[in-house]
Amino acid sequence: MKATTTAAPPPLPPDEEIDRLSALRRYRILDTLPEQAYDDIVALARLVCGTSQAVMTFVDEERQWFKASEGIAGEETARSIAFCDVAIRTPDEVTVVNDASLHAVFRNYPQVTGPDHLRFYAGAPMVTPAGHALGTVCVVDTVPRELDARQLDALRALARLAVQLLELRRGNLDAQRQLAERELITRDLLRYQRQLEAQNTELEVEASTDVLTGLLNRTGLERVRQDIAANSQPLDTPFSVAVLDIDFFKRINDTLGHAAGDGVLRIVGQEIARGVRGGDIAVRYGGEEFLVIMPNTPLAGARTVVERIRNDIACRAGLPTPVTVSVGLAMGVAGRDEPEAIFQRADQALYSAKRRGRNRVEVSED
Ligand code: GH3
Ligand code: MG
Ligand code: MG
Repeated sequence: MKATTTAAPPPLPPDEEIDRLSALRRYRILDTLPEQAYDDIVALARLVCGTSQAVMTFVDEERQWFKASEGIAGEETARSIAFCDVAIRTPDEVTVVNDASLHAVFRNYPQVTGPDHLRFYAGAPMVTPAGHALGTVCVVDTVPRELDARQLDALRALARLAVQLLELRRGNLDAQRQLAERELITRDLLRYQRQLEAQNTELEVEASTDVLTGLLNRTGLERVRQDIAANSQPLDTPFSVAVLDIDFFKRINDTLGHAAGDGVLRIVGQEIARGVRGGDIAVRYGGEEFLVIMPNTPLAGARTVVERIRNDIACRAGLPTPVTVSVGLAMGVAGRDEPEAIFQRADQALYSAKRRGRNRVEVSED
């Protein structure tokens, strides 16, 4: 205990005061609403010390602010006339002023000279683990008093409890903030993931598309096949596969050039895309070979589709040279035939179409 009767210790050096203030801000206690636990500490301080008033104050830059108080009006006073501002200059000691009217400094304070008639003050600094005195738990009276050793111990203990509460409170606030930050980060990550997924889908589409014709390429076919396997059509229903191959394409390349050949490929691709129905799958399978898969389609229907395509190509105007395609067609039954096997049969039928004069559709009879 330190009983001041004559002078007040000097203020903290500016550096320490700056540290102390930033520590105070980190507890985010200033100007918060009353809370029961802090009220209880103040009530106990008054009870134990038998004074008319008790306060828990935090000393800010310009003021002391009351987190809890009993027997005293208002919620803050100017720092310049705060007993507690003096008390926090000696963090390890309880500052006791038995009779302020006899004190060299405090006797001139307005609460001593004025109607408040303050005489007795005892303030136990609330000192953080890092050693900063944030304010005090103090008891005040209008008559001179003394505290015995047990009362002083109790006042110190209450100041320590207050710091304990502040620490817990700050821990809670930090945890809440971390949680909120984590939620933000999670949200950003999710958004990023969605972007990546969208980009992935775009890339997959790009990788699955033949640049020249815009039809699916072999990669695309593989993806579609996986899709079909996943959502396979009902068992025992027919599906058809057609292989289309441009006739004498090498000759077109040789006589008109590769670029003209590409132009022909593009137009044939267009005709195929135009000729298939929704649900059919059109693929540029190789150089000048195309594949049309027709789910849920028996041979007759499939034949109509490919005959139309064959005919449209043969009649197509605006080509540098007449272009025809030969088509091999085969049908399978879902659940019974592997698409691969049906493709092989369609390919054999294509071979027959070539042999039998080209520009025709041949059906595998197996
Ligand atoms: P057939 O009637 O028997 O099918 O004869 P074809 O000349 O069409 O068949 P062949 O397999 O002998 O020739 C196909 C040619 O297609 C050979 C190749 O140079 C050409 N080719 C493959 N891919 C492309 C391409 O992307 N662009 C161009 N311009 N030509 C291609
Ligand atoms: Mg060919
Ligand atoms: Mg070919």
